[in-house]
Amino acid sequence: MADKSNFLINLSVLYRNTQKYFDRLLTRYDIGSGQLIFLLCINESEGITMQEVTNLTEVDKGTTTKSIQRLIDQGYVQAKTDEKDRRVKRLYTTQKAIDIMNNIYEYRAHLRNTLAQDMDFSTFEEMLSKATDNARDESLFENEVMSLKIGEFQKMSLGDYPDKMACTVYMSGCNYKCPYCNKRDLVFIPENNEFLNPDEVSEYLKKRNQLLDGICFSGGEPLLQEDIDKFIRKQRRLGYDIKIDTNGAYPQRLKALMDKKQVNYVSLDIKNTKEKYAETVGMNAETFNIKPIEETLNILKEGKIEFECKTTVVKELHTKEDLIEIAKWIGPIDHYYLQQFIASDNNIQQGLSAYTMEELEEIKEEIRAFIPSVEIRRVQE
Ligand code: SF4
Repeated sequence: MADKSNFLINLSVLYRNTQKYFDRLLTRYDIGSGQLIFLLCINESEGITMQEVTNLTEVDKGTTTKSIQRLIDQGYVQAKTDEKDRRVKRLYTTQKAIDIMNNIYEYRAHLRNTLAQDMDFSTFEEMLSKATDNARDESLFENEVMSLKIGEFQKMSLGDYPDKMACTVYMSGCNYKCPYCNKRDLVFIPENNEFLNPDEVSEYLKKRNQLLDGICFSGGEPLLQEDIDKFIRKQRRLGYDIKIDTNGAYPQRLKALMDKKQVNYVSLDIKNTKEKYAETVGMNAETFNIKPIEETLNILKEGKIEFECKTTVVKELHTKEDLIEIAKWIGPIDHYYLQQFIASDNNIQQGLSAYTMEELEEIKEEIRAFIPSVEIRRVQE
């Protein structure tokens, strides 16, 4: 059964199969499915003009003209000059078209009956018609993309911001697709997803600034959102400390926030060794660029603000040698965590497994030689 939430794919399958159906049946008349809509329009509004067909079908003028000209050349349609206004051409079906229209209506009815099987098709048609009206709404084309996409908001989180009473704002959207990620819906944003209103989140934060010390921005990848700086600035004015959980892909955005003192703590994911990075973030190894992550790490290591690095350890993705290699790459820093992976239904890829705490303890001991501060963290990112 088709995925109910995947509106765009369903719409495309419905459209393509309808086209295919008519293309097959109309071959005998040498008519393509693309011409059908125009033939029907003219048949049901004899004397219609080319412009009126364009308005009715909402197909661009060039395509309308080309398709109708073909119907004229094939002898299904004729264009006659309007007697009152000789600049206007009116379109009429010919006897050749009239002879086949009954069959065309029969094909259309068969299609409708087939699609209507096991469902209340009239209700569907009503809703489709409403959705079509909504699609004409100009607001569809307004640039909403720039606004902040908040996927989830946790009003109180004790573990997300070290030593602070904080809340966590989860931003939707990520540039990576880590197989072990447990925020699948923030990465592959469902079509029926409703983002939280940034103003409502702000309003809540305004009321709670006496109770909460900090805000953790997580995701998804919070720095993917260009407008995040404006939102953070607003919260900083209320006195909040800001923590950012990042995958390190946007060093310059992070630096800009640091330079403006808009961020107090950063948690940087180091996903794997440089060689295995692309695989671990679900990207193509040939095009993946490790440089931004190195740049982020270097910016943080300059020591201007407090930060941590963490690696979520997954058996299928990390060997002990990989983790030692990562530790050598990062070098001694104040806070490094090996985070135990926890499998869930929300993981992007199912079937991954975790090291036991005992195994992680052993690995930790080996890593100490390179990062003495290494600790194990049991919560998932
Ligand atoms: S784990 Fe983080 S970086 Fe990876 S896909 Fe999930 S949100 Fe993105």
